[in-house]
Amino acid sequence: MDYRFIDLHTDTLFRMMDEKRSNSFSENTPMHIDLEKIKKGKPLALTLAMFTEDKKEQSTRTLHINQMLSEFFNIINSNKEIVQALTINDIFQANENEKYSVILGIEGSGGLQSHKDLYWLHRLGLRIISPVWNDSNLFASGNDFPNDGLTNEGRKLIKTAKELGIVIDISHLNYKGFFELVDIMENTPFIATHSNSYRLCSTPRNLKDEQIKAIKASGGIIGITFYNDILEKGKKAGIDDVIRHIDYIVDKAGIDHVGIGTDFDGIERPLTEISDISMMQRLFERLKDKGYKDKEIKKIACENALRVFSEIWI
Ligand SMILES: [Zn+2]
Repeated sequence: MDYRFIDLHTDTLFRMMDEKRSNSFSENTPMHIDLEKIKKGKPLALTLAMFTEDKKEQSTRTLHINQMLSEFFNIINSNKEIVQALTINDIFQANENEKYSVILGIEGSGGLQSHKDLYWLHRLGLRIISPVWNDSNLFASGNDFPNDGLTNEGRKLIKTAKELGIVIDISHLNYKGFFELVDIMENTPFIATHSNSYRLCSTPRNLKDEQIKAIKASGGIIGITFYNDILEKGKKAGIDDVIRHIDYIVDKAGIDHVGIGTDFDGIERPLTEISDISMMQRLFERLKDKGYKDKEIKKIACENALRVFSEIWI
């Protein structure tokens, strides 16, 4: 039996833009995600995040958002098997029609010029957003800048996303900004789309126990990610390293607060046994071998993510 899953984070749009692969989604490519690989891997839904680099000029970041938006809609319009999810029902409907859902996301909001850009981006279907990547921008500071938290504009961004029903993603946000965000969120769930445990792999990209607890307390989830250096430093990571991090989060936060965010097409060294999305079932098979029950695997694979989306998306 295949486990249907939700991949909370991929960089496929950025990689397509960066490698000038526009229109290539239905072709056989070296990408980690394309139509044929999706058909084999059987995701229920996956996030296509628009990633912008804060080191680039504002005009370049804005241009990149435009290019990735254009590619996102190009993918949907050129591939009848792929549909955009605006609601949970869209995901279920697509599944019934044997189609796959894609969710429009943003990784690092530096391509936005104000929190008000969320009004039009939400109308285009933006459903997941992270304020910042590793650097620093108009809204917040990321892992490489530990001293500053959210800016005033960043607080407005978070509040506006909350009001519109866009899921807030804290992956890459620094520790200070994280806890400032916790205060703004109050009881609204927020998530880490692609982060692992700091205790198991100590890098500022990963989540300390108190952050894991805060995400759990909000009702949110943590998407365990395949990025080698935040799974295991200094050696090539494999499925068992992913499972160590899953075990840890399950132990600290419970089975209801774990998900998957592969970072496919954003990782240079994929796992030995899962080098692209077509091989994802191997993860669920291994979880089964390790003693996870069917209903627990389903929660990790997609049900926890669906629960959060259903609470946030209006
Ligand atoms: Zn990332």
